[in-house]
Amino acid sequence: MNRGILYGKQSLDAEDFAAVEAVLRSDFLTCGPEVEAFEREFAQAVGAAHAVAVCNATAALHLAMRVLGIGPGDRVVTSPLTFLASANCAAFVGATPDFCDVDPLTGNLCPSALHKNWKPDTRAVVVVDLGGRPANLPAIAEVARANGAWVIEDACHAVGGRFTAEGREWLTGGHPWADLTTFSFHPVKTMTTGEGGMLCARRQEWADAARCLRSHGVERNPEKFEGLGLKTSWDEKGPWVYEMHDLGYNYRLTDIQCALGRSQLKKLPKFIARRQEIAKRYLEAFAGMEGLKPLALHKTISGTQSFGYDLSQLSLHLFQVAVDFEALGMSRAEVQRQLSARGVGSQVHYIPVYLQPWYRRTFGFQPGLCPEAEKFYRATLSLPLHPSMTSEDVETVIEAVRELGR
Ligand SMILES: *Cc1c(COP(=O)(O)O)cnc(C)c1O
Repeated sequence: MNRGILYGKQSLDAEDFAAVEAVLRSDFLTCGPEVEAFEREFAQAVGAAHAVAVCNATAALHLAMRVLGIGPGDRVVTSPLTFLASANCAAFVGATPDFCDVDPLTGNLCPSALHKNWKPDTRAVVVVDLGGRPANLPAIAEVARANGAWVIEDACHAVGGRFTAEGREWLTGGHPWADLTTFSFHPVKTMTTGEGGMLCARRQEWADAARCLRSHGVERNPEKFEGLGLKTSWDEKGPWVYEMHDLGYNYRLTDIQCALGRSQLKKLPKFIARRQEIAKRYLEAFAGMEGLKPLALHKTISGTQSFGYDLSQLSLHLFQVAVDFEALGMSRAEVQRQLSARGVGSQVHYIPVYLQPWYRRTFGFQPGLCPEAEKFYRATLSLPLHPSMTSEDVETVIEAVRELGR
């Protein structure tokens, strides 16, 4: 089936296939040596203190809630412009998901809106780096920490990304303004393990708790045993003994997937560079185009909260453009249809989460809660961006966009 040039897609090569095959021929398909190796190499690549591999980023977000002890009576604030999981994780643990409006230029959580609308029961802020453009983490963390709340960075769009703050460069996953950071290895993301995710933690105790919860809340280290309540102690000390200390899950990532992850990780710098190259070509090609404007891939905020980035620092997941559908004289559906007729896929990121029927029904959210996010949603479109695109594919996209409305 030819669906044209997709907005996102995996890039796999012979090295990846060989890495997977080697595990398939080995003794351990899961719970083996690839898991620890992937965690170690990933933590090093993103500058994280600790990394815990899990079956997907939704599980990573759920575990983030669990290790921070967030639950009923707590509020968790996130951006409405995100995938459902950034908000669902709060509901998983019985907390109340809530939303804060965005900066109209970036679609990222707006620190001053967060400050202005702060509610005292807020225990955590889930910050999303939309499309791979980093949110202003220093400013958001300042608001959250002044109110005693945790910062979880949902960096599913930004693996390998960097930004500048306080006069130096920081890695997404390796800076001091997030307590926990989540990454996704779904095939549309920048590197893949099929399904997969990573939870990076600033503290050892959070990583330990996440590893325990990832595997049924089971403890196998005899030094940490609490006992089984039997009278004969020899029954409690055998090599077969394990203890369940918490209500956990099976959120493990297999060795097959971790081997693929290690192989993909080696190519991450190349993937990022190719995405930047394609974005650069798009920026040139769409400059001055009427009715269509790429979202800025650079930002500078100076002063005490100096923060910024440019294209050379970004691990871009999406190439988003703001479209003036009125000026083009077409609806979004019509634009998508015309692009599709020329073999060009496109996607919308995202429908504001609080507009989803379950959210409106369960929490009483109404349209108009976050006006900037709703405007952003109505105006943006994501064009194809992934390293498997050939230069010809890139020109096909450019031609199709330039032909819109003609
Ligand atoms: C993809 C994504 C997720 C969920 O990732 P999975 O690995 O599919 O569970 C969460 N948040 C954001 C922002 C994402 O893009």
